[in-house]
This record gives sequence, structure tokens and C-alpha cells, in this order.
Amino acid sequence: MKKTSPSSNAVNPDIIHRLQVGVEPLLAWYAQVGRELPWRVGKDPYRIWVSEIMLQQTRIETVKPYFARFLAALPDVQALANASEDELLKLWQGLGYYSRVRNMQKAARVIMEQGGTFPHTASELRKLPGIGDYTAGAIASIAFGEKAPAVDGNVLRVVARYLNDHDDVMKPAVRRRVSEALSQVYPDGREGDFTQALMELGEVICLPGSAVRCEICPLNALCEGTRQGTAAELPCRTAKKPPKNQERTVLILRCGDKVALRRRPDKGLLAGLWELPGWDGFLPETEVQKQVSAMGLQVTALQSAGEGVHVFSHVRWQMKGVLCEVEKEGGGFLWTDQKGLREQWALPSAFRCFFPFLPGGKG
Ligand code: SF4
Repeated sequence: MKKTSPSSNAVNPDIIHRLQVGVEPLLAWYAQVGRELPWRVGKDPYRIWVSEIMLQQTRIETVKPYFARFLAALPDVQALANASEDELLKLWQGLGYYSRVRNMQKAARVIMEQGGTFPHTASELRKLPGIGDYTAGAIASIAFGEKAPAVDGNVLRVVARYLNDHDDVMKPAVRRRVSEALSQVYPDGREGDFTQALMELGEVICLPGSAVRCEICPLNALCEGTRQGTAAELPCRTAKKPPKNQERTVLILRCGDKVALRRRPDKGLLAGLWELPGWDGFLPETEVQKQVSAMGLQVTALQSAGEGVHVFSHVRWQMKGVLCEVEKEGGGFLWTDQKGLREQWALPSAFRCFFPFLPGGKG
């Protein structure tokens, strides 16, 4: 089997040539069948930025309503810079990885402090909080026509297969070299289309594993991976470490039609977000009762609220819920009703399994 490696020589003319011949068929295909997505309307860098941040780790169909709500509430950089933290978190509720939206606001504030003009180049964009190579490339190429590739897992998969490249795509050096090779084949005047066509191919045709749809791919006749029969096994990547298991007792503390929330610490997992209170480890109900009483709260009823699991990137929470009714509000918590949960306070989806026990039956 012939294996090639763009990562071993970023300017290998053979690699560049092979990538080059794929550009026109890819653009022609994209012009014909590219999906109409809300963030593809116009070239507003703000819209592109919001969509790219939302799309990290989240599916397109899930993002669409979030994108519409976010843009309606915060239509430009200035509005984002001025938003309250709770409004921001509420708009993001359910998307997870809240540091993404916090960084967006930090970046919006930097842009406003610098005069309110969106940076035009990938290198300027990369200086903003939360904007890495991928997002900078997406904004710079789509909004400003820079030959700046946006290399994510989808694009790495397409390129590795197209070139039958067996290098480990988890290595930063491989990503950098793929990006360097792509930057040399960007077509004049259609930079944004090329970025989006590559993304689109990875999202709908060059799918992971055996879901790959080579038979309808515009690059089929040029693709070394399909010719060699290696497409389904590429790209090569080192296995990630499984997330560490952490046991948690989650307290659904109710007083009439209200539930208690508390802020998490400013650093670490779900930093600064509202949560259902709880403890590390599985506490027996007698111990939960003791702890709640020690907060100065009079317990009137206590029962199990079932179990649930939430997997973060490095940690897996294995949770047991305890539903506890108390006589009066107190204990230093924020007490909120169904309306507050719906409109004001964002509760991370890590607690979704306990939403049926919240006022109104969900968050
Ligand atoms: S031919 Fe198959 S493996 Fe090659 S780029 Fe197209 S979908 Fe991917």
C-alpha cells in the first residue's frame, strides 16, 4: 500500500498538486448541493463567529434554534460585550462548555475597547480569547477572503483519506502541516466557499468510519483512500484516555414550588455556573439529612431521586439524587421557581436527569 504524508514535508509539490486538482470539483459540488444554513447568509464575521463557536462539539440541527435566539438577543459585538453574565449563560443553556461563551464575551469586550472593528486577519483574530486556529481560519476565509484554512476533525479526515495519509491526526504538527498544505491551494476569490466546501464534505459525505459515502463524493475519482480501500480506517489517531469516574450526591432541595441553586467555584468544571448543590461521593440519606440540618434547614421529607450519568471531556459524573423537602428557604442558596428556571437561571445539562424533580418538572 502506498502511503503518503503531507506532514513530513509541508511543501511537497506532489501533495500540493494532488490537493490542487481536487479544488474545482469540490467547489462545483458545493455550489450545487451546499446546504443553506442560517450562518451562511452574508459574510458577517459576527454571525460566522457565533456559529463556529456553537458548532464546536454540537450538531448543526441542535445549533440552529440556539443560533436564532442568540442573534435575536445579542445581534452584534456590542450587544454581546454588554450582556449580563446570567443572560449569556441562559442563552447558552444546554450547549455545554460554558467557557466558550464566556470567552466570546471577553473577546467582544476586547474588540469594543479597540474601537469596535472586527479584526480582519487570522493572526489578529487568534489574539482574541477563545479563538484558536480553526475559528480564526473560518472567520478570516469566509468573512474576509483570506487564504486561511479552518482545520478541524472533519477536514483532517477528508485530507487524510484523500491523500491516503496514515499520520496521527492528534499530533499538532500534523494539523499544522495539513493547514500549511491547504493554504497553498486556496482558490482566488472563493476562499470562503473552499473553507465551507471542505467542512460540508466532511459533514455530509466523508463521514467517520464505515458511514463514509464515497459513491456520491465529488472527489471519488481523485481520492487515494477510496482507491486503496483505506477510507473507513482513516484518519489514524491515538486513543484518548477515558474520562475519570467521579461519584456525586446531588441534592434537589425543595421548599414549596422553589428549588435551591448555588454557584459553583470560579475555577474548574462548570466554573461559576449555577448548580444543584451536592457532595463528592455517595452519601447515605441519613448523612444527607444531617448535612441539610446543619445548614439550619428543617427537613420535612426525604427520598431518592434516582441516578444519572453525565460525561464531560475528562470526567464522568456518576450521580445519585436525593429529593429533600424543607420547611423554610435559607441555607445561603438561591431559591427559584419554575419561571426563574425557565427565564433567568441557567442550569447545566449535566443535571438533566434530575430535571423531572424541579419545579414544573423541568429546567
Ligand atoms: S472519496 Fe470517499 S474517502 Fe475520499 S474524500 Fe470522498 S468520501 Fe472521503
